Amino acid sequence: MTRIKDALDAVAAAIIAQKDYLTDLDAKTGDGDHGLNMARGFRAAQEVVEEMDDTSKPGPVLQAIGKALIHNVGGAAGPLYGAGFVRAGEACDEDTHMNVVSMEKLLRAAIEAIQKRGRAEKGDKTMLDTLIPIHECFLPENAQGKTLFEVLQEASKAAGEGVNYTKTIAARKGRASLVGERSIGFEDPGAVSSMIMYRALYQFLKN
Ligand code: ADP
Ligand code: MG
Ligand code: MG
Repeated sequence: MTRIKDALDAVAAAIIAQKDYLTDLDAKTGDGDHGLNMARGFRAAQEVVEEMDDTSKPGPVLQAIGKALIHNVGGAAGPLYGAGFVRAGEACDEDTHMNVVSMEKLLRAAIEAIQKRGRAEKGDKTMLDTLIPIHECFLPENAQGKTLFEVLQEASKAAGEGVNYTKTIAARKGRASLVGERSIGFEDPGAVSSMIMYRALYQFLKN
C-alpha cells in the first residue's frame, strides 16, 4: 500500500471521467448531482493528500480521504463514503498490506461504517449492493486457495453483477426511495460509483 497516493489519483481520475454519466443516472431517480458530488469530493481528497508530509502509511491517508469526502460533499453518498474511508483507515495497522486479508478487513470496516450511518441493507438499491458482493469475495471461505489477483478479478465481476442487480429492484433508501417502484430499470448511482472506484483500484493494481 505504499502507492496509496497513486491509487487515490487513479480512483479520482476514474470518478472525474464518469462525472456526467453518474450525474445523468442520478437525474433519472434522484436529484442529478451524484457525479458532481463525487468529483468535488475526490478533488478535495487529492488536494488534502497532496499536502500530507507522509503518505507511506495507508491508515492516515484513508482517514484524510474520508474526512475530505465528509466535509466537501453535500448529499447522502459523500458522508457515507467518507465514513467508510475513515473507518477503513482506523482499521489499518502495521500488518496492513495489499493482500486478501487486509482487503477483507478494510472493506468490512467500511461497510460497517456505511451501514451504521445509513441503516441500509443489501437489496435496498444503494452502494451496498456493490460493496457487499465485493467484500464477500475476500472472505476466507471464498478466497481460499486463490491468488490476490484472482480474488481481485472475481470482485470486479461481482461489482458488475451488483450494479446489474440494482436495475431489477426498487430503491428503499435515500432520495431514490421517493420514486420507489419507478426506480426499477435504472442502475443505482452509488452502486455504479462503487463499481467505478473498485475497478479503478483493480486496474491500478494490475499495472
Ligand atoms: P443525494 O441523494 O443526497 O443527492 P448522492 O446523489 O450523491 O446524494 O448519492 C446518492 C447515492 O447514495 C444513492 O445512489 C445510493 O447509492 C447512496 N445512498 C443513499 N442513501 C443511502 C443509505 N442510507 N445507505 C447507503 N447508501 C445510500
Ligand atoms: Mg443525488
Ligand atoms: Mg443531492
